[in-house]
Parts: sequence; C-alpha cells; structure tokens
Amino acid sequence: MVVDGVVDAGQHGWAGEIGHLTVEPSGPQCGCGSTGCLEVYA
Ligand SMILES: [Zn+2]
Repeated sequence: MVVDGVVDAGQHGWAGEIGHLTVEPSGPQCGCGSTGCLEVYA
C-alpha cells in the first residue's frame, strides 16, 4: 500500500495482504499465526 508516495506496510506489516484479512476470528489457524484469515477459506 502506498500513502502519499511512501510505502506503508501497515501496523503489522501486512497492508495489501488481503489473504490475511480476518473474515472469521474464531476460524481455523492460518500459517501467519492468526486465525480465520481469508487465505484459509479461498
Ligand atoms: Zn493469515
């Protein structure tokens, strides 16, 4: 993600990584260490 011409990796460094958007907080474990990421469903 780019904000004002500067690359912004986001608070957790995953800006633009839509595969790791949480779609179900109580969902299955993802390889990134979170749970319920879009990536585990799609
Ligand atoms: Zn993930």
